[in-house]
Amino acid sequence: MSRLPAFPIEGGCACGALRYRLNAPPIAVYTCHCTDCQKLTASAFSMAMPVFRKDFEVTRGEPATWLRKAASGTVIPQRFCPDCGTRIFTEPPGGPHSVTIRPGTLDDTGWLHPVSAFWVSSAQPWVRFADDVLQYEKQPTDFMPVMKAWKAWVEGG
Ligand SMILES: [Zn+2]
Ligand SMILES: [Zn+2]
Repeated sequence: MSRLPAFPIEGGCACGALRYRLNAPPIAVYTCHCTDCQKLTASAFSMAMPVFRKDFEVTRGEPATWLRKAASGTVIPQRFCPDCGTRIFTEPPGGPHSVTIRPGTLDDTGWLHPVSAFWVSSAQPWVRFADDVLQYEKQPTDFMPVMKAWKAWVEGG
């Protein structure tokens, strides 16, 4: 039994100028509590949903780009709506085959279940994590456990 919705699924920015479609299941869903994500979301943390680029398409509008320089020096392009500013997806470094959707922009967010939390060392002090959430002090060096946790959750484990 899969806990995923039927694909394709769609999403878009707050004003509707930018729309996208995802044709196949994501690779994982996690949260990031780094201070950059707090700033970028104007909130406490971000949700991230890496997907295969071949499964993802922008169906309306043209995203604008801001080149974010991470603490490591890596440049991570951020794609957002030029009209309302909603950040829709980012281009992960060294990952030409994937993009990371900001899944709060999905039309239906009810099924989302982050299985891991990154940068818990800078999480806001009131944030609590469920027992089954894989926690990382910073960025995980190995993404495989996150993908495994995601797969287990999808299959109902
Ligand atoms: Zn917009
Ligand atoms: Zn972050």
